[in-house]
Amino acid sequence: RFITFEGGEGSGKSTQIRRLAERLREGGHTVVLTREPGGTEMAEQIRAFILSGAAEHLGPEAETMLFAAARADHVDRLIRPALERGDWVLCDRFIDSTRAYQGSDGVDSVLLDSLEKIAIGNARPDLTLVLDLPVEIGLARAARRRSGEAGPADRFERETVERHERRRQLFLAIAAAEPDRCLVIDANQTQDIVADAIWQGVRQRMIE
Ligand code: C5P
Repeated sequence: RFITFEGGEGSGKSTQIRRLAERLREGGHTVVLTREPGGTEMAEQIRAFILSGAAEHLGPEAETMLFAAARADHVDRLIRPALERGDWVLCDRFIDSTRAYQGSDGVDSVLLDSLEKIAIGNARPDLTLVLDLPVEIGLARAARRRSGEAGPADRFERETVERHERRRQLFLAIAAAEPDRCLVIDANQTQDIVADAIWQGVRQRMIE
């Protein structure tokens, strides 16, 4: 079983994915918790390379292909083998982040679709939780989190509110177009309430 978490900056994905992993483990399930970009040594290197700004001179299409290469490795070496063993796989960001982020960077959807197919093959999420909240609130949360860290905010968080807003709308449009796969969660609530909403969705759709 394959569950992905999607949403904008500061939506609480990382916290909530950990909480869901704990609940599933308490229920006796074997859980693989991973993230994108990243998840394998090669993909983590590509992540660090892109997020460091070292690839900033690349056009959005070239950058998209780097993300796709990272995903192909991640799916082949970690996600598909885990699914074949019967483990639960929880992934922080996946195909919808590409559609929303690279889509909002102007990358053509035909290119995005074909790279998606090549990179994931049959490893399609069974459930995608879209953590939704107003952009300003998410950015304020992300800024608070970063204030304790050394170094500048990464380049994605320095972008305009308009672009974040466009991505939020893209996530919501994907969820509306694929209601069987996607569940929108109101992330503008307390951590406990969000965790319960997620757990209810997972139980209804995947356990009961
Ligand atoms: O949310 P997380 O910290 O995992 O994401 C790392 C950064 O990579 C984020 O700032 C996100 O905006 C960016 N990203 C992206 N395109 C993707 C996935 C992530 O630009 N497909």
